[in-house]
Amino acid sequence: MANLKLNHIYKVYPNGVKAVNDFCMDIEDKEFIVFVGPSGCGKSTTLRMIAGLEEITAGELRIDDMVVNDVEPKDRDIAMVFQNYALYPHMTVYENMAFGLRLRHLPKEEIDRKVREAAHILGITEYLDRKPKAMSGGQRQRVALGRAIVRNPKVMLLDEPLSNLDAKLRTAMRSEISKLHHKLQTTFIYVTHDQVEAMTMGTRIVVMKDGFVQQIDTPRNLYRFPGNKFVAGFIGTPQMNFFNGTLTQHGNKVTVEFDNTDVKLDAPIEIFHKADRSYLDGTKPVILGIRAEHISTNPEQYPYRAKCRVSHVEELGTDCQVYADFNLNSEDVIGESPTRVIIKAPAGSYYSVDSVIQVSLDLTQLHFFDAETETTIAPRIPQEVVTQAIVNGSKLDALNAQIELPEAIRPENGEYSMYVPTSAVRLDGSIDAKVLEEEDVNGQRLVHLQAGNTVLFAIVDKNVQLGKTTKIDIDLKQIRLERDGEVVVQPLNLNNVLVGTISKHKVKVEKEVDGKTKKVTELAFSFDICGASFDCPKELAMRLINGGGQNIFGKNLEFRFTPYQVHVGDVGLEGTVDACSDYGKEKFAQCVVGDKKVNVLVNGEVGETVRLNLDVEALEIHETDRAIRLA
Ligand code: ADP
Repeated sequence: MANLKLNHIYKVYPNGVKAVNDFCMDIEDKEFIVFVGPSGCGKSTTLRMIAGLEEITAGELRIDDMVVNDVEPKDRDIAMVFQNYALYPHMTVYENMAFGLRLRHLPKEEIDRKVREAAHILGITEYLDRKPKAMSGGQRQRVALGRAIVRNPKVMLLDEPLSNLDAKLRTAMRSEISKLHHKLQTTFIYVTHDQVEAMTMGTRIVVMKDGFVQQIDTPRNLYRFPGNKFVAGFIGTPQMNFFNGTLTQHGNKVTVEFDNTDVKLDAPIEIFHKADRSYLDGTKPVILGIRAEHISTNPEQYPYRAKCRVSHVEELGTDCQVYADFNLNSEDVIGESPTRVIIKAPAGSYYSVDSVIQVSLDLTQLHFFDAETETTIAPRIPQEVVTQAIVNGSKLDALNAQIELPEAIRPENGEYSMYVPTSAVRLDGSIDAKVLEEEDVNGQRLVHLQAGNTVLFAIVDKNVQLGKTTKIDIDLKQIRLERDGEVVVQPLNLNNVLVGTISKHKVKVEKEVDGKTKKVTELAFSFDICGASFDCPKELAMRLINGGGQNIFGKNLEFRFTPYQVHVGDVGLEGTVDACSDYGKEKFAQCVVGDKKVNVLVNGEVGETVRLNLDVEALEIHETDRAIRLA
């Protein structure tokens, strides 16, 4: 029984390979977590860091709320099962399972009880006297599992345990491991490159690529709401169909067009309710994705029809897969044509090669991605929403409300596009909004709120009543106003960045030694940022040295903080006040420090020059060279 917390974990190998970047995850007790991704994406490295077999370069690993970065593997209460189960060939199954416990000097009776109990759970009691060579691959893997279970670990780590087995055995062992998880009621972390294994076993799945976590979610949510094209293509068989295309809004309709085809479908705007509106003007290229099971060979199935030319059909018994092309004139329909489509059809469907058929598409299941970044343009929690706003003096007419503008926002009178981030929308305020929908997005409560004609999104932490009108507030320092594509009012920058270094020096301190006060020399650390020096607590310094190494002294570090983590005081960074922004409830001073600008929350009037004190413990510190977050 254990929960784990991976807090901004990085791994850089001595040869410079950055195998894991900024891995963040909370794992609950008894979860079955699967790390999945192509070979070399950093799955095993992450698992080995959890086991303690690989040093963590930067970040913090907690097991049951205790930091274990420096705890020896044997003291972590973790058991690991590998692909190469490496049983001792000269020992019987019983001895193989008892071996680890003997090394720990457990009483003989206890060892016997544990081995028999594990053998019973795994159904290998009758093989206890056999040697491994007299067993099948699946049985041997069970012994390897048994060797792990007898230790009664808090966490079971499994690194591709089934990849040496043939397909049939793998399927059988898959369900055995799931059952085992259920029986043991322990936290499991399982590494595989096989998405089917991941989907069938995991309570939650971490999809990785090139050392970066792509998405963490339940199997169902990964399938339904992939956050980018990679996840969309990786999860599901056959792979999702992708097309280059465009989206063009005309009133309440959006025309969906696939490039180099005649596919042109008018879909209701509701399908795009979370989509970034800037992609709906028909000029920005997008990648459109739709799964084989969401296209039907029955043209009446869905109201959106298209023609395609069949290239071949694969009969799978339970259903068949029709390979076709939306480009009816395509030369090569067998290869990877960008307009090729795979369609799931009922078993026994027959189509002659080159026949043109009409199919229908379930556009409610359409996915859209940015053509360059390949991230979804309709995330589950939308980043921002755009609405029309009219400025008249200190009044903003938007969202069917008259909003008083703070002094900080005084653009010319006129019409603007107002961008409202989800983080700026809060309950309680003076704007009327109807609660349209409420959904759980990975533990966060997202509500859809209609104010005037605009649907806004907000993360809330209290109950709201569906269908009822409630009051909301917009945090105006976060909004952006644009006119003719030009930004007229910027949101307040909440991400301050300064560059500096850490240094160490010797200090003499008085200490009680054997009842006498003595002067002793100790090491102390400080941050040197833009000409000012701040004490760095020893614990924080150790974290930075652990991550950055001894040569951290002299390296450039980036210090990141919000306007709330810096205060005007008597000592500290020297700043010249450049501008003041009065948002009513909050006032901010923009100060020039060195060659950077820093926003600071202020209480009242400030002079032309200020001293700024930093909340050192709250600083986010990055090593710029290797782009690693150290604290
Ligand atoms: P996966 O388990 O997803 O296949 P790994 O975690 O084994 O990936 O590897 C991630 C990356 O780190 C790969 O580029 C791999 O070559 C590299 N790597 C793994 N182990 C070492 C090592 N001991 N030294 C240097 N590079 C390594």
